[in-house]
Amino acid sequence: MKIVSDELCTGCGVCKIKCPYGAISMEYRKAFLYPVVDESKCVNCEICKNVCPLLKNEYPMQEEPSAFYGVIHNNWEVRKQSSTGGAFSLIAEEVIRRNGVVFGAAFTADFEVRHIGVAVTEDLKELRQSKYVQSNTLSAYTEIINLLGQGKLVLYSGCPCQVAGLLQITGVHDNLYTVDFVCNSITSPLYWADYVREMEKEYGSKLQKINMRTKSRPWTMFAQEFKFANKYANIGSDNYVMAFCSYHLISRSCCYQCKFREKKHKSDFTLADFWNVRDFDDDLFDDGGTSLMIVHTQRGEDLFEHCKPFCTQKKVTLSDEWLGKNLPMITNQPTPSVYRSEFNDRFGKGESVLKLIKEYISK
Ligand SMILES: Cc1cc2nc3c(=O)[nH]c(=O)nc-3n(C[C@H](O)[C@H](O)[C@H](O)COP(=O)(O)OP(=O)(O)OC[C@H]3O[C@@H](n4cnc5c(N)ncnc54)[C@H](O)[C@@H]3O)c2cc1C
Ligand code: SF4
Ligand code: SF4
Ligand code: SF4
Repeated sequence: MKIVSDELCTGCGVCKIKCPYGAISMEYRKAFLYPVVDESKCVNCEICKNVCPLLKNEYPMQEEPSAFYGVIHNNWEVRKQSSTGGAFSLIAEEVIRRNGVVFGAAFTADFEVRHIGVAVTEDLKELRQSKYVQSNTLSAYTEIINLLGQGKLVLYSGCPCQVAGLLQITGVHDNLYTVDFVCNSITSPLYWADYVREMEKEYGSKLQKINMRTKSRPWTMFAQEFKFANKYANIGSDNYVMAFCSYHLISRSCCYQCKFREKKHKSDFTLADFWNVRDFDDDLFDDGGTSLMIVHTQRGEDLFEHCKPFCTQKKVTLSDEWLGKNLPMITNQPTPSVYRSEFNDRFGKGESVLKLIKEYISK
């Protein structure tokens, strides 16, 4: 049995969590995780279909955004570690001040990407910064259900489809805040693991640190930084990130018909790069990163009110025309590379991601 087609499934894993018979496992197919149903355990109860965010929309989109803000965190160290202006950290810090737990995507020691929960401000550095690889969020979902059950306050930050998955299981919950972002797409953990291995071979040293949005260069340069144990640092435009965001060669199929690409979101907040912020206010631009924060709910507005002493912010009015021109990923589906499936077939036969990316992005 297929719950939804591979073209649509986001791999959120909510179906696996909710199957009462343990009939679902998540397995890699075409380099991404998909649910697989064990027919010998399945009793056709259809709970998985009723909980899948693509089939049953239990938790609808919010109303039109209540406000747009340009935001800069006042602490440069925090902003330096963040992809844009550090808006995520502002919200997360307020939740921690209220004794809450913040969940977001972090690199493991081996540079896998997983959602983890942190309860002290110092640990937020693990969650900061975009990782352009699909994060495994399954154990985080389970932890959140337990924490909410204990009356804890929780902030969950993830892709719009991951927020949609979580809300299918928790429903509307006074103690849960959610933040997502305008999402280009997401890449395969298997491609990424292979790329890291090959980079280490190429530079003859273990990778020690990765920053996919380094502030060692101006924010608008969109640069990456890879640091190796032999002290070598590769800073600039990285091929993996380019293959993802510019060539659309290595992202998940569902991202090309994403059901969550709308101005309305399910979350309390949506964050983005505020490119061209100077159209509105020169004071919000110093090329160290400015966040665009879209607030969708009144409770989001109330929470942000408590963050204002820690940031420079300005409310802006953004027309649909401006959004379409400057933030196309909010509503428009990107076009996948014509080489996507050829790339994946060759990867499946054992060719290296580093070599394949170099070949296909020069075509
Ligand atoms: C995969 C991806 C695609 C994006 N595409 C666009 C885009 O097309 N246009 C645009 O304007 N902005 C995009 N963004 C959002 C933008 O780059 C910033 O993440 C956002 O503005 C927040 O920045 P910040 O400075 O507030 O916080 P940061 O500290 O940079 O935010 C980090 C937050 O992002 C979350 N995060 C990081 N990586 C992942 C991941 N792999 N999966 C789930 N959550 C993750 C973390 O949980 C953390 O909460 C994208 C982000 C990601 C992760
Ligand atoms: S139909 Fe029921 S038993 Fe079968 S996989 Fe779905 S949830 Fe599990
Ligand atoms: S619940 Fe998530 S993982 Fe399961 S079929 Fe739906 S989208 Fe895919
Ligand atoms: S583009 Fe859509 S489906 Fe793909 S990761 Fe982002 S929210 Fe999920």
